[in-house]
Amino acid sequence: MTTPEDQKDATPTPTPTQESASSVTAKKPAAKPRATVKPKAAPAKPAATKPKPTPKASARAKSASVMPTEVLEVAVIGSGFSGLGMGIRLKKAGITNFRIFEKAGDVGGTWRDNIYPGCACDVKSQLYSYSFEPSAEWSNAYANQGEILNYIRFCANKYGMYPFMRFNSKVVDAKFNAELGEWLLTIEGGELVRAKNVVAAPGPFADPADPHIKGSADFQGRIIHTARWDNSVELKGKRVALIGTGATGVQVGPAIAPDVAHLAVFQRTANWIMPRPNPDLTDADKQESRDKPLKMKLNRLSNYWLNEATAPFLILKYDAFKSVPSSISNSYRERKVKDPALLKKLTPNYKFGCKRVLVSSDWYPTMQRDNVTLEVSGIKQITPTGIETVDGNFYELDVIIFATGYEVRNTGAPFEVKGLGNASLNDKWKDGAEAFDGIATNNFPNLYFLVGPFTGPGHTSVIAYAEAQIDYVWQAIELRKQMNLKYITAKPSVEARFVKTMDQRSEHTVWKSGCASWYLSPNGRNNVLYPGFNAEYRMRILRFNPANYVLIGANNAPVKASLRDHLSTVKRALTA
Ligand SMILES: Cc1cc2nc3c(=O)[nH]c(=O)nc-3n(C[C@H](O)[C@H](O)[C@H](O)COP(=O)(O)OP(=O)(O)OC[C@H]3O[C@@H](n4cnc5c(N)ncnc54)[C@H](O)[C@@H]3O)c2cc1C
Repeated sequence: MTTPEDQKDATPTPTPTQESASSVTAKKPAAKPRATVKPKAAPAKPAATKPKPTPKASARAKSASVMPTEVLEVAVIGSGFSGLGMGIRLKKAGITNFRIFEKAGDVGGTWRDNIYPGCACDVKSQLYSYSFEPSAEWSNAYANQGEILNYIRFCANKYGMYPFMRFNSKVVDAKFNAELGEWLLTIEGGELVRAKNVVAAPGPFADPADPHIKGSADFQGRIIHTARWDNSVELKGKRVALIGTGATGVQVGPAIAPDVAHLAVFQRTANWIMPRPNPDLTDADKQESRDKPLKMKLNRLSNYWLNEATAPFLILKYDAFKSVPSSISNSYRERKVKDPALLKKLTPNYKFGCKRVLVSSDWYPTMQRDNVTLEVSGIKQITPTGIETVDGNFYELDVIIFATGYEVRNTGAPFEVKGLGNASLNDKWKDGAEAFDGIATNNFPNLYFLVGPFTGPGHTSVIAYAEAQIDYVWQAIELRKQMNLKYITAKPSVEARFVKTMDQRSEHTVWKSGCASWYLSPNGRNNVLYPGFNAEYRMRILRFNPANYVLIGANNAPVKASLRDHLSTVKRALTA
């Protein structure tokens, strides 16, 4: 069996479909093409089975700045659920002239990088997995990190993705060449890559957020961030601090509390918590799923619609939608926490859903353990031997865990991107990332984002968004190819209308009801989560409509979309 390690430096043998730079420029202009597209699913071509070894990073550095002759049809950036799903879709459609550039040495994204104890998904695994690859093998309803990573590796293997992977290849720069209608990517080390289309799937949670606490550099024990967990740090019998009680904190705390001598939990804000019963799935359960795939699919569907039904309660700010979930969460807390002083500390003081609602059945029991202290006073400083609070409490410590989340990218570009006329994506997104349909942004042609602006899930699985986007992007890629277009870029007016709709809808959401959260950019705007139902978003992007885009043909002349495409944009504008 091929392992990620085996494939680390593997690249596919070029296929006959690969275009050279000269073949692109030499192509005849298409004769007055009309832009209604019905991309056909071409039969999948056999994957390159004998990968040519990719030169090691040092060798690649030597070839830095050498303009390659090969032009990829698609360069995908990132090999988490989204990027890998994109690769699988391309291959299924018969497009094999693509690579997936991944800065790390394995697939998996979030689930490769987050290995802290207790790490698991908080959406049921049946839904938090590809719709085309349901699994009967989950050990629990909510799988842990190891199982999810194995599932991603399994999919990469089953769908023949390893030969398309370029590991240890961080994309640092992308420049669009309007003459050639292609992107020039720079890989860390200097290697250049040419591609007609770029699909950026760098993930929303790539970099850990440092809480910047005074004195941390002087601490004599160990400090670890959950996003960069270090298994060599011994916790057994140690005095440990956990800073942060969000989605990560409530997973790691219960997982380590039984082993440590003492756990001091530093909470800034109490969370709304719902119970998460997570019984083991027995061998008989798994066998039943294997035997009845239809039942498994129906289970997924029922989970999907159940989550959809919760959307108004989690998303809208109106009290009519808040009383039911708040009282469920309140009564759960009141039943579980006996000490009134502790109960008070654990009671949130903002609207249900304003910050991410957490699911945990072991957080409240953990807070009541004899070896756990919940500290709600602010941290004044970290000293060489521990943590001093604003109230003057002092905790002597061996290890400090930062469960302080991620630098969520709601402003700026994920890497340097220069589009038409050398426009900078960093400049465009300096106050907040924006994209039409959350996927494409004007002036940056043939570039598509997965799980980009406005398309994070407020109430369901990320994968439900990513899969719909993957299909949309594939249609765009097919359109460019079929019509021999130089490029496709979102119309500014269409993009502005979409952004306005997102902004207007966000005003009705609970995310803007006054609490501080990572959903909001520094100027208080939501451009992270989709303010609506996932089903509605899927309908919105079901069909890639060329009339929403500027299409430039091989002869540099604009190509008109068909009347049908235009009529469908009018319909959409009226119903937005
Ligand atoms: C602990 C944790 C638990 C979560 N639980 C859930 C859950 O239960 N349900 C849910 O819906 N979501 C959950 N999420 C959100 C989760 O991030 C997404 O569900 C999903 O993993 C996103 O997949 P992705 O492929 O878009 O991004 P990622 O998984 O982040 O993958 C992005 C990949 O891109 C690579 N990359 C980034 N920049 C570059 C570059 N410049 N060049 C090359 N490669 C690059 C990264 O190394 C990474 O491999 C969770 C997140 C975390 C951190």
